[in-house]
Amino acid sequence: MKPTISLVGAGPGDPELLTLKASRRLQAAEVVLIDDLVDPRVRALLPPSARVLEVGKRGGRPSTDQRFIHELMIREARAGRRVARLKGGDPFVFGRGAEEADALRAAGIEVEIVPGLTAGLAGPAALGLSVTDRRASSGVVLVTGHPGAHCGEPDWAQLARCGLTLVVYMGVARAERIAAGLQAGGLAPETPAAVISAAHTPQQRHAFTTLAGLADCIASEGLASPALLVIGAVVARVASAHGEAAHQGRELLRLLAN
Ligand code: SAH
Repeated sequence: MKPTISLVGAGPGDPELLTLKASRRLQAAEVVLIDDLVDPRVRALLPPSARVLEVGKRGGRPSTDQRFIHELMIREARAGRRVARLKGGDPFVFGRGAEEADALRAAGIEVEIVPGLTAGLAGPAALGLSVTDRRASSGVVLVTGHPGAHCGEPDWAQLARCGLTLVVYMGVARAERIAAGLQAGGLAPETPAAVISAAHTPQQRHAFTTLAGLADCIASEGLASPALLVIGAVVARVASAHGEAAHQGRELLRLLAN
C-alpha cells in the first residue's frame, strides 16, 4: 500500500468543533505532527500511544524549518506508520497545507485532506456575527495581514473598494498599517470593525470598534494573536446587539441594587 498522510484541520479551538473524520484520523494515528496553534484540548484527544511531534511555527518565536517538517513526515510515512499532520483551523486556509501536500506528493506519498473549520468564519460566528449577512454584505474576503515572501502586501486600497466584509488573519500586529491602507482606498473611518482573539477557546475575547479606532482598541484592550480583524457593515448589526445586551445587563443590576 502506498504510504499515506492525513492533513487534518483541528478547527479553531473547542474540540467539539472537530469533524468526525478529523477525530477518527487522530484516534488512529501512530505519529502526529502538530502546530502550536492547535488547542491543548484537541491534543488531549490524541491516543496515549501516539508519538506527538511539536513542529510549531509562530511569528517571532524560533520555528521549525518547513523543509525539516516535510522530511520528518516523509520519513515517518515511508516507515509505514500512520501519520496525521494536525493544523489549526483548516489546513488549506493560510496554513501552508498546500505546500506540505505538494512536498508529500512529490515524494510519492498519498495525501488525504481533512478540512477543518477555519477561524475566519468560525471566529466571527462565536460572536453571532454572520460575515455574509445578506442585509449588509454580498460576500467576504479572507486575507492575511502578514503576507509571505511570495505574494507581497495585499492591495488594501483595492480591497477598500470591493464592498465586501473583510476578515484579516494575522493582522493584529499590523492593524494600524492595514487600517491606514483601507482608509487611503476610501473606506470610511467609521466603518464598523471587530477584533476577536482566541475564538472558541476559554481565552476568547473581543472588542467592537471602528476602522479608524482599530489599532488603539487592540492596544487598549490588550488583544493579542491569534486574533482576527473583521471589517464591514455586518459588524454593526452584532455590535449593536451586544451593546444592547450589555445595556440591559447594567439596567438589571441597577434595578436589583435598588
Ligand atoms: N489554518 C488556520 C489559520 C492559520 S494562520 C485556520 O484556518 O483558521 C493563523 C491565524 O489564524 C492567526 O494569526 C489568527 O489570525 C487566526 N486564528 C487561528 N485560530 C484562531 C482563533 N482561535 N481565534 C482567532 N483567530 C485565530
